[in-house]
Amino acid sequence: MFNRLSSNCALMITSVFIVSPAALAQGVGYDDGPQIPHQQWRVHDINRPNPPVVDPGPAPTTIAQPPSDAIVLFDGTSFDAWRHGGEKAAQWTMLHDQHAMQVKPGTGDLWSREQFGDVQLHLEWATPAKVESQSQGRGNSGVFFFGRYEIQILDSYQNKTYADGQAGALYGQYPPMVNACRAPGEWQTYDIFFEAPRFNDDGDLVRPAYVTLIHNGVLVHNHVAMLGATQHRAVASYSAHDATGPIKLQDHGNTMRFRNIWARPLDLGIDHDHDNDEHHGEHHEHGDNDSHHGDGGQGG
Ligand code: MG
Repeated sequence: MFNRLSSNCALMITSVFIVSPAALAQGVGYDDGPQIPHQQWRVHDINRPNPPVVDPGPAPTTIAQPPSDAIVLFDGTSFDAWRHGGEKAAQWTMLHDQHAMQVKPGTGDLWSREQFGDVQLHLEWATPAKVESQSQGRGNSGVFFFGRYEIQILDSYQNKTYADGQAGALYGQYPPMVNACRAPGEWQTYDIFFEAPRFNDDGDLVRPAYVTLIHNGVLVHNHVAMLGATQHRAVASYSAHDATGPIKLQDHGNTMRFRNIWARPLDLGIDHDHDNDEHHGEHHEHGDNDSHHGDGGQGG
């Protein structure tokens, strides 16, 4: 719980009290984080280069219609698909004229009522047009699969922060390949292809989560194996969970907007394409015969 509530929050505090003046002159981040396994970087590494900036072109002027088989999670008319923790009704602000919702800071994260495993997710987001604060304090939110695997949402338009915490980052794990952010206040798109991790009946990880992310039409992650559930200033790790889980949008204290959110559950065939499948009967979803996929190819 601590990590969820404080995710990304501690930078402002620690930059005042812990990060040395020399470190601040270099950049933004931490020089004392734990080493990320199979990488040369530490978590939120102050020395990790930020990716190059790409201009993705102007924001779309219309809201594209979802595909016919999509589950519409938000179309600007209703919060029915969302809740806060404890089944509390959504308290964020509806912006009817924009077909959008806006974070009401302090009300907490929003959770989808629908549960997803492997899924394609489209969402559009905008950071506040008026720039306030900096680094992780500026236009921060996030989309969490299973409520625990975060793809960072941040105003990363001319806003320096640590590379693994900028927009499009697999927070604390991998920066995006490029920074394709639009300016504050402009609508931006995420098209995410998320493959859920698989655990065996003993709760051991047999296949990590994989993420492909297109930000404003630009590929920024190509089937990257996640290192585990998102952590702040700690190494990500897995713990077993159900085959499906909710999608979470983060209230990080900024008046972020969201619109046009839809999902397509995916059948990737990875749980039932094996000879001994019938042996496992109803338990396909656990992926317990999937171990030869192992730890994937992108651990490093
Ligand atoms: Mg965030």
